[in-house]
Amino acid sequence: MKLSELRATLREIRVSPVKTLGQNFLHDQNLAHWIINQAELTAEDYVVEIGPGLGALTKLALEKGARVLAIEKDARLANFLRERLDHARLEVINTDALKFDARALFSQHRVKLLGNLPYNISSALLLKFLEYPSPISLWLFTLQKEMARRLSASPSTPDYGALTLRVQLYHRVKYLRTIPATVFFPRPEVDSALVRILPRDPLELPERDDELLLILIRLGFSQRRKQLKKLLQKQVADWDAAACSVGFNPKARAEELSLLQWIALANFISPSPRPSPDLTNNERFPVVDNKDRILRYASRSDVHGNNLLHRAVHILIFNQAGEVYLQQRARWKDRHPLRWDSSAAGHVNAGESYDETARRELKEELGVTVPLEKISKLPASERTDQEFVWVYRAEVSGSLAPNRSEIESGAFFPQTIIDGWVAARPDDFAPGFIECWKVYCRKKRASRGTLI
Ligand code: SAM
Repeated sequence: MKLSELRATLREIRVSPVKTLGQNFLHDQNLAHWIINQAELTAEDYVVEIGPGLGALTKLALEKGARVLAIEKDARLANFLRERLDHARLEVINTDALKFDARALFSQHRVKLLGNLPYNISSALLLKFLEYPSPISLWLFTLQKEMARRLSASPSTPDYGALTLRVQLYHRVKYLRTIPATVFFPRPEVDSALVRILPRDPLELPERDDELLLILIRLGFSQRRKQLKKLLQKQVADWDAAACSVGFNPKARAEELSLLQWIALANFISPSPRPSPDLTNNERFPVVDNKDRILRYASRSDVHGNNLLHRAVHILIFNQAGEVYLQQRARWKDRHPLRWDSSAAGHVNAGESYDETARRELKEELGVTVPLEKISKLPASERTDQEFVWVYRAEVSGSLAPNRSEIESGAFFPQTIIDGWVAARPDDFAPGFIECWKVYCRKKRASRGTLI
């Protein structure tokens, strides 16, 4: 829309731009095309647009063939868009984007997030929609120029800070171009910039304890001008040894450390644990026949290498809201690394019953001991990696303590979201989980098993 059309439309629908909603509408057609081209949209894409306003970007995204979900807080604009664009591939919802549950987007195959974000809540929106794990494969945001610089900053520059690291830990950020205030009506007080954000491949950075890392970063940048040595003295006992091992100046300030150095510092304090190879080598599993009767015992490598039938448990943990905890398998696992899986799972060891294994795995992987309910038994098949699997469920009220050596990450998800996610992106999951989830869903309404 040209500026004259934009003004006329606002008059026609009796809307005066609301400052608290960050209503600055784009009226430069060429720029709108340029922005949309950066998203490389096709008919395969599901675009989520935050704050579509009068539809400057929405219309162009639809022209590329994408499906669009437009989230607009102002009811007048949401109604206008529905009427004016009236497109089969457009859904407009009138809600606050901060209240939108982004996890629902896992049920879409490929999601791209667009928005000329309302300035006043842009950092809250950013952090919400950049949370890990995320179903989004591309973020294209127009932000205040200063914020865009912070997101894309490099070490030893004034813009580099805790926000930079927090975002770059999971994403690659590119500052695409500065957007002058003059292309918006009304004209905002500052210039903007377009940034493109892509998710990092999880293997791009070393494994680490993110909770510890983010604490270090927060403390390190709490007083930018102070040396890190003073700010982190409680966390790092031998600072000089840390500086030497990670390779930075012992007098460094927070802004001098790269993301990789921050990660190395966290790993110096708390090295990433791995199960000892001795432990794994000494494991013995029962090998069973096709009726699950024990034939003999064998090592993990023998069982997996020769596709021998064996036994396992999967446990689904529910919180009080009825959500299920899913774990992302550790990167070092020999089977399905980094895929999503049941809350806890593991092999039955020699001399162990299924129930004993379930209790042990729950304690080892999630640090909890709660009553378990037996749900169903799956026959061994290729989909279960030749495992007979007993599926259990349990409820927790407190928090879990995921074992970092077993679990890359984890989160609770509503059951309907898991259903949609499994249907849209089955390759995100370990195949055994999909089998367990199907069985659980079938049995959900049937009578419950015995508490153990
Ligand atoms: N995309 C349009 C454009 O480029 O012309 C409008 C951009 S304007 C900067 C921001 C838009 O976000 C406005 O339409 C405003 O009503 C909407 N908005 C403000 N706060 C919102 C929120 N919390 N959730 C969803 N939309 C919001």
